[in-house]
Amino acid sequence: MTTAKESANEKKASTPRKKPVKKTKVKADPIVEPAVPADTCEPCDTLGASLARHIRYGLCRDDHDPEELFTAVGKSVKEQMLDDWRQTRIKDNQYQQKQVAYLSLEFLMGRALGNALLSLNLTDEAKAVLTDYATTLEDIEQVEHDAGLGNGGLGRLAACFLDSCASLDLSVTGYGIRYQYGMFMQKIVDGYQIEQPDRWLRHGNPWEVRIAHKIVTVPFFGHTENYVDKHGRRHHVWTDTQNVLAVPYDVPIPGFNNGRINTLRLWKAEANDEFDLAEFNEGDYAEAVATKNLAEQITMVLYPNDASVNGKELRLRQQYFLSSASLQDLLARYVAHYGKDFSQFSQHNVLQLNDTHPSIAVPELMRLLLDQYELTWDEAWAITSESMAYTNHTLLPEALERWSVPMMKYMLPRIVEIIFEINSRYLEQVAHHWPGNIEKLTSMSIIEEGPEQHIRMAYLAIVASFSVNGVAGLHTQLLKDGLFSDFYQLWPEKFNNKTNGVTPRRWLAYCNPKLAGLITRRLGKEWITDLSRLAALNAFTSDKAFVKEWAEIKLANKQALSEFVEQECGVKFDPSMMFDVQVKRIHEYKRQLLNILHVIHLYRRILNGDTEGMVPRCVLIGGKAAPGYAMAKQIIKLANSVAHMVNSDPLVTPYLRMAFLPNYNVSAMEKICPGTDLSEQISTAGKEASGTGNMKFMMNGALTIGTLDGANIEMLEEVGHENFFLFGLDAAQVAQAKVNYQPQHIIAQSEALSGVMSMLKSGHFNLVEPGIFDHIIASIIDPYDQWMTAADFESYRIAQEKVAQTYLDQDTWQQISIRNSAASGRFSSDNTIAGYRDDIWMKK
Ligand SMILES: *Cc1c(COP(=O)(O)O)cnc(C)c1O
Repeated sequence: MTTAKESANEKKASTPRKKPVKKTKVKADPIVEPAVPADTCEPCDTLGASLARHIRYGLCRDDHDPEELFTAVGKSVKEQMLDDWRQTRIKDNQYQQKQVAYLSLEFLMGRALGNALLSLNLTDEAKAVLTDYATTLEDIEQVEHDAGLGNGGLGRLAACFLDSCASLDLSVTGYGIRYQYGMFMQKIVDGYQIEQPDRWLRHGNPWEVRIAHKIVTVPFFGHTENYVDKHGRRHHVWTDTQNVLAVPYDVPIPGFNNGRINTLRLWKAEANDEFDLAEFNEGDYAEAVATKNLAEQITMVLYPNDASVNGKELRLRQQYFLSSASLQDLLARYVAHYGKDFSQFSQHNVLQLNDTHPSIAVPELMRLLLDQYELTWDEAWAITSESMAYTNHTLLPEALERWSVPMMKYMLPRIVEIIFEINSRYLEQVAHHWPGNIEKLTSMSIIEEGPEQHIRMAYLAIVASFSVNGVAGLHTQLLKDGLFSDFYQLWPEKFNNKTNGVTPRRWLAYCNPKLAGLITRRLGKEWITDLSRLAALNAFTSDKAFVKEWAEIKLANKQALSEFVEQECGVKFDPSMMFDVQVKRIHEYKRQLLNILHVIHLYRRILNGDTEGMVPRCVLIGGKAAPGYAMAKQIIKLANSVAHMVNSDPLVTPYLRMAFLPNYNVSAMEKICPGTDLSEQISTAGKEASGTGNMKFMMNGALTIGTLDGANIEMLEEVGHENFFLFGLDAAQVAQAKVNYQPQHIIAQSEALSGVMSMLKSGHFNLVEPGIFDHIIASIIDPYDQWMTAADFESYRIAQEKVAQTYLDQDTWQQISIRNSAASGRFSSDNTIAGYRDDIWMKK
C-alpha cells in the first residue's frame, strides 16, 4: 500500500504538475460603471472631516503612533481623489484619446503625500487641519516610507513621466511590479556599505487599492504542442504550465490641478488557489505552502543592479510576469470596448518599453494574439510592430540584456518558439538589404550563437518597435553611429531622440518652497506647468534686491541641508562654506573616484599650508553600490576613509569637510538639491546616457561642474559656457585617448596627481587596514582603465580652481545661479513628454 505522501512524491518525480492553461473564452464584457448609487450618494467629505473619520473609525483606538496618523492622512487625501479617479477611468474606457501603457520594471516614486497635496491644491488645507492634531504637515510627511521601487535614474524617470503625463492630461497607465522589498536600505558601518531589506509595506500603504476583479493568470514552464485543424490551420498549445496569479494594486497619479487622476498599476504575484487545493487533498500541507511561496517569490524583491545585469532566472520571471499581466489587462480592456476586432488596436494603443526589461512583451503580445485570439501571424505582427516603442537607456555592454535560450526554453517554451519565428522572418529582410552578407546575418541576429545561445533583448525590441529612442542628443547619436548602426541603416525612420527631463512640481515647487515662492511672486505661477517661463528670471540678475533674496534662500536651504547631514552623518557642514555635492548611484563610469582624488588634493594643499585663494568647502557624496559590485563598494569605503581623516584634523576643517550620506533616495534628494552650490556631473564622456540629477540641481540654482556627457551637453547649450564649469575629454577624444593610454605618464606629469597618488599609496587613509585600496590604485594606473580617471584629473582640478575663484565673488555666483535656473526650462519632463506624445505616441 502506498501512503498519500508516497504517491505525492511519486507524482512529483514522474511529471511536472499538470496545469494546462485553460483556453480563456473571450467574451465582450463592456466595462459598465454603475451610475446609481455612486452618483447620487453624498459627495466626499472635506479633508478635515475625512481625516477625523479615519482617525475615529479607522484606527479604533486613541493611542495612535505617527505611522497610523500618517496612514489616516494618506487615506483621507486618497479619498479626495476618488471621484476624479473614477471619472478619468470612465472617460479613458471610451478610448477618447490614445491609450499609452508605460511598461517599466522600476518606478522610483519616493513619497506621495506632499506631491499629492500640491497637485490637488490642498497643501494649506492640510496644514490647517493638522494643527488640530498637535502635529505639522512636515512631521507627518517625514513618516512616509519612500516607495523605492527602482534603482536610480531609469526608475525615477518613469516616476517623473507619470507626473507629466497626468499633468498634460494624457491617458497613460504605468505598469510595474509591486515589490514587497524595494531598493535596499544602505547603512554605513566602519565606512563599509551594509545592505538591509527595505520593508516599506510593513505599516501598509494608504495609496494603493487592490483590484481583485482584474486578476489575471500568468503561465510558466510546461511544454508546447501543435496540431493542424480540419481547415489546415496550425494551432499551438502551451500546456502543462504552472500558473501564477497577477493581482493589480492601483496607485493614483494626480495631474497638477487639472482633475485627471491616472493610474500606476503594480502587479503582485500570488499562488493560484486551485493549485494549493490539489496539494491539500494529498495531505501535504507544507508542500502546498512552499508552492505558494514559490509563486509569491516573483514579486518579492527588486534586483539592486543599476546599469548592469546579473542574468538570474527569477529576474526573467519578473519581466515576463509584468509583461504578460499588463498585456492581458490591456487586451481585455480593448475587447470590452471593441470586441475581438483588433484591426484598430494600434490606432488606440501604444506600449512604451522603458529599456529592454519589459521587451519580452513583444513575443507575449504575439502569443496572446496568435494563440488566444487566433489571429494570423501577419495580422498579429502588424499589430505588435505598430504598437511597440522602445527607449534605450545605456551603451554600457554590461547593461545589455541577453537571456540564455535553454533557460528561456524551460521557463517560457512557447515564447522561445515565437522569438525564433520573429528572427527568421526578420533575417530575410537583412538578407534582402545586404545580399550575400553572411556576417551581417550573424551579427544582427536576435539569437547570439556560442557554446550556449542567447537572446539579444535589445535587438528583439528594435526589430518589433516602430520607434527607438535614446535619452539625450549625444546618446542617440552614439546609438546610431555605434551600438545600433546596422539597424539605423536598415530602419533610419525608427530612430529618434527624447532628452530626459524631471518634473518641476516635485523638483522645484514641492522640494524648494522658498525659491518657488520667490519665483511665483515675480513671474506668476504659470512656470509650474510651463517651465520655459523661468527664462524671465534672467531679467532679475541686475535687480539687487532679487539677487539678495535669491542668495538668502540658498543660505536657508543650506542651513536645512547641514542639519540633515549632521543628523545622518554626524558631520557639521557650515553653511558659510561652499556645498559641493555628488549624489547618484556609485559606479566607476560616474567617477566618484575623480571627486575623491580632488578632495585628497585639497587636503594635501591644506596640510602643506597652500591655502591661498582656497574657498572653504563641504563635499558631500552619496549613493548606493550594487551589492555585488566590489569596486563600487571600495569607492564608498575610500570616501568614508578620506572623510574621516579630513574631518578629524582641526587644521583642515576650516577649509574642507567631507561626508558620505547613507541611503541616498528620492526624499534625501528633495533636501539635497535645494541646498547645493555646486553639482558634480563628472562621468567619463560617452558613458552617462543622460543623467537627470544634473537637471534637478540646475533647476534649483546649483552651478554645474561637468564633462561633455549625456544631457550636460544640452544644459551647457542652454546656459552658455560662461555659466558652466566644463572640463575633460569629449566622447571622441576618450575613444582616441584609449588607443595609447599611459596613466603612469600622465600622473608623472602632474605634480598634483602624483602627490595624491603617493598619499593614497602611503596608506595614509587606511593605516589600520593595509592594502584595502590597492585595487582602486591599480585601476587608476591601468592602461586599460575604461573610465580614464587620470586623463581628466588636471583638467578637473583647474576647473575646480575656477569654481573657487567664481565663488569668491558672491554677486557673480548668485547671478550665474539665477541664469542656471532660468535656463532649465527645457529639462522639464513636461517638455520631454510633449515630445513622446507628438513624435511617438500620436504618430500612427
Ligand atoms: C534623480 C535621481 C537619480 C538619478 O541621478 P543621476 O545623477 O542622473 O544618476 C538617482 N537616484 C535618485 C534617488 C534620484 O532622485
